[in-house]
Amino acid sequence: MTDISYKPGDKKAAICASCKHLVDTTFFQQTDGLLVAVCDDCGRVVGIAGETEPPELAIEFYEGEYLGDRPMLTRMFVVEGSCVPYDRPPYTVLEETRRILEQYGEKYASQELRDRPLTVFISKRRGEDYIPLGRLDVTVRDGVAHTSILVEGQPRYDAEPVSVEKGDDIVAVIVRVLRDG
Ligand SMILES: [Zn+2]
Repeated sequence: MTDISYKPGDKKAAICASCKHLVDTTFFQQTDGLLVAVCDDCGRVVGIAGETEPPELAIEFYEGEYLGDRPMLTRMFVVEGSCVPYDRPPYTVLEETRRILEQYGEKYASQELRDRPLTVFISKRRGEDYIPLGRLDVTVRDGVAHTSILVEGQPRYDAEPVSVEKGDDIVAVIVRVLRDG
């Protein structure tokens, strides 16, 4: 919680991630009631009232099957980011994860998904703290990725299997699992 309360129409200077410099922002009440600061120059959401910056999701990819001991896995790469909806309720963890990975996949290639177990940890980063939010356990058999999804506050469930095309990279497959599964 914040000790300064803002109301719609208030102004505050902030660094805009899109404009990449200090801009004037105006507070604006979303339909979900969330008070957000919007960049006066580009119109994007720069922050949420009460937080200096939106907490980021960290999506960590490991090779191997998770059996309760993370150091036994081989860390491959991590994708970090945040995605705050402008005019609708906040995304669920999995929706936000998918959107961050979609944006990542448009810019970068990741390793090809091989016939090996893959474990994806999703956590929320606030400063140095990582708060675990979910885990995807992926196994690939005969060109089909099977994913078991564990998200905080929900029973574990299996996503619909998705087929893995030749040359698919890991991020592309996980985006498909989260979209179609
Ligand atoms: Zn801007």
